[in-house]
Amino acid sequence: MDELRYQLNLLKAMNQKLSGHEHMYRLICDSLGDAFLYCSLEKGEINVVGKLEAIDSYTFRDLKDLNILCDVVAEEFSLPLRALLFLEKEDEERRSLDCKMKDDKTWLRFEAVVYYNKNGEPADKVIKIEDITKNMLRAEEMRYLAFYDPATGLFNRNYFVSRLNEFLLKAEQENDVVSVIFIDIDGFKNINDGFGLLIGDEIVQQIGQYLNEFSSDKCLVSHLYTDVFCIAVYDPTKDRSIDFVTSTINKRFADGFVLSNGERFTFTASMGVAEYPEAATSSIDLLNCAEIVMFKAKENGRGAGMVQYFDAAILQDFLKKAEIENKLKDAVFRKNFEMYFQPQYFSDNERLRGVEALIRWKSDGGKMVSPSVFIPIAEKNGLIMEIGTWVLSETLSIFKKWKDKYNYPMIMSVNISAMQYKQDRFVNELLDLLHKYDIKPEELELEITETLFIEDIEEVKEKLHILRDYGVRISLDDFGTGFSSLAYLQGLPIDTLKIDKSFIDNVGQEGSGRIITESIIQLVERLGYETVAEGVETAEQYAYLKEAGCDIIQGYLLGKPMPEHEIDKLLIRLL
Ligand code: C2E
Ligand code: CA
Ligand code: CA
Repeated sequence: MDELRYQLNLLKAMNQKLSGHEHMYRLICDSLGDAFLYCSLEKGEINVVGKLEAIDSYTFRDLKDLNILCDVVAEEFSLPLRALLFLEKEDEERRSLDCKMKDDKTWLRFEAVVYYNKNGEPADKVIKIEDITKNMLRAEEMRYLAFYDPATGLFNRNYFVSRLNEFLLKAEQENDVVSVIFIDIDGFKNINDGFGLLIGDEIVQQIGQYLNEFSSDKCLVSHLYTDVFCIAVYDPTKDRSIDFVTSTINKRFADGFVLSNGERFTFTASMGVAEYPEAATSSIDLLNCAEIVMFKAKENGRGAGMVQYFDAAILQDFLKKAEIENKLKDAVFRKNFEMYFQPQYFSDNERLRGVEALIRWKSDGGKMVSPSVFIPIAEKNGLIMEIGTWVLSETLSIFKKWKDKYNYPMIMSVNISAMQYKQDRFVNELLDLLHKYDIKPEELELEITETLFIEDIEEVKEKLHILRDYGVRISLDDFGTGFSSLAYLQGLPIDTLKIDKSFIDNVGQEGSGRIITESIIQLVERLGYETVAEGVETAEQYAYLKEAGCDIIQGYLLGKPMPEHEIDKLLIRLL
C-alpha cells in the first residue's frame, strides 16, 4: 500500500514537473513571436505552441488538419505550401517557403523538419511559422532604393544606365536610334544658396514629378544627382521627338512650379542631346557626350535654357581641354613656366615706360604655350591661384634684379585674375612680396579685366582700394570688351586704362573704330587716367594714336613679349 502511495506521489510530482516544463516552453514560444506545430505522425496528432497574430487564433489553436493552412495563404502559394507541409511524402527532411497571405500584405515563412525513427520511417514533424512581413518590406525598400531615387521616384543613375543598355541592344538589332537628353537646371546653386536646401529639395522633387510624365516604355527618365536629370528616348519621333520634348520642358519650366509655401519659381534648363549610334555606342559614353554638349549649351546660352545637339567638334574641343588640364596640373607641380615681358613706351618721346609681364608655359619639347589657351582653363579649375602666386614672386624677383643692375625708373605691370582677389591673403602676400624685393608700391601695376567685376564686385573694389592706398597702381585691361563698360569705372580706383586691341585694329581706317577710340581717349583724359593702346602693330596706328592723345603704346611694332635676357639687353642700351 505504501509502495503504491509512493508510486502515486512520484507520478504526481513528475506530472507537476512536466506541466511546469510545458508552461515554461509555452511562455518561451509565445515570447518568440513565432508559432510551432508539432505533428506526431505515428499518432496522427497536431499540437500548436506559440502565437501568430497573422492567422486567426481560433483556426490556429485547434488546428487538426494541416491542409487548412493552405487556405489562408494567397492562391499562388497554396500548392507549394502543401508540398512543404507534407514533405515526408517526398522523403525530405527539411524545407522552407515564404508565402504571402490572402490579405496581400502579410508574409509568413514556413519551415518544416521531419524526424525519422530507427526504422527510417517518418515519426515526428515540426513546422515553424514566422511572420516576416517587416523583413519583406525592408527588402522591398532596399530593392526600391537600388533602382529608384527616393526624392523624385525616378530611376536612379545605375538603373537608368542598365535600362538604357537594353534600349541600345534593341536599337542595334532593329537599326533604330536612341537619344539621350542631359538636363541641368540653370542657376540652381543660387536657389539653394538664396532660399535654402529645403526649397531646393522641393523644387527638385516637383521637377522630377513633372519629368516623370514623359516616362513610358519608349522613354526613360532619371534623376542623376542634385539638379541634373536625364531622359532617354527610343526612336524619337512625333510626340517624343527631341525638339518636342525639350521645348515642352522649357515651356513648363518657364511657367514655373508653385511650392508648398505658395511661391512660384520659374526656371530655364540647359540641355545637351547625344544620339546613338552617331555620338556613341555605349550608354556611359552616350551619357558623357550628352553631358559635354550640355556644358557647351550652358556656356553659349549663358544659362538661359539653350539646347545643344552633339557635334564631334565640341567633343574634340572638350577632350583637348581635358588633356591640357592634365598637363597643366603637372606643369604647375614642376613650375614649368617662364615669364616674358613686353615693353611699353610713352607715345610722345618713345621713352620706355615699363613692361607687362606675360606668362609662358614651357610644354613638352620646349614649345611655349600661349596663356590665352591655358589661363581660362586654370581660372575654371582653380589652378590659377598657384600660378598667380608663382607669377607675382617670379616677376618681382626679376624686377628686383633689373632695378639693382640698371636702376632705370620703370613700371612692372602684372595680370591678376579675378579669382586671385578672392583669396583672403591676397593683399598681405602682395605687400610681403613688395617688402621682400624692396619694390616701391608705385612701381607695380596690377592689370585687371572688366569681366572680373561681374561677381563680388564689392569685395574686389575693397581690396583694390586697400592696395591703391598703399600706392600700388591699378590698370583696367581689355577696356571695351567686357559686358559692361563705363558703369564699372565708377568707384573703381583706377590709374590706367588699356584700350583693347580690337579697337586699335580698326583705327587704320576712318569709321566707328576711330570714333570709339577717340572718345575713350578723351573720356579717360578727363577722368584723369592714363591710356595705354595695346596691340599696336603698324606705324600708322602709332602715329594716329599719338595724335589722338594716347599716352602709352604697347605692341609688336615696338617690341614683342620677350624673355628676361632680352629686356636686359634693352635696359643696357638705356644706361
Ligand atoms: P592681355 O593681358 O590682353 O595681354 C596682351 C596680349 O596681347 C598678350 O598675349 C600679348 O602677347 C599680345 N600682344 C601684344 N602686342 C600685340 C600685337 O601687337 N599684336 C598681337 N596680335 N598681339 C599682341 P599673351 O601673352 O598670349 O597673353 C594672353 C592673355 O593671357 C593676356 O592678355 C592675359 O589676359 C593673360 N595672361 C598672360 N599672362 C598672365 C598672367 O601672368 N596671369 C594672368 N592671370 N593672366 C595672364
Ligand atoms: Ca594685360
Ligand atoms: Ca589686354
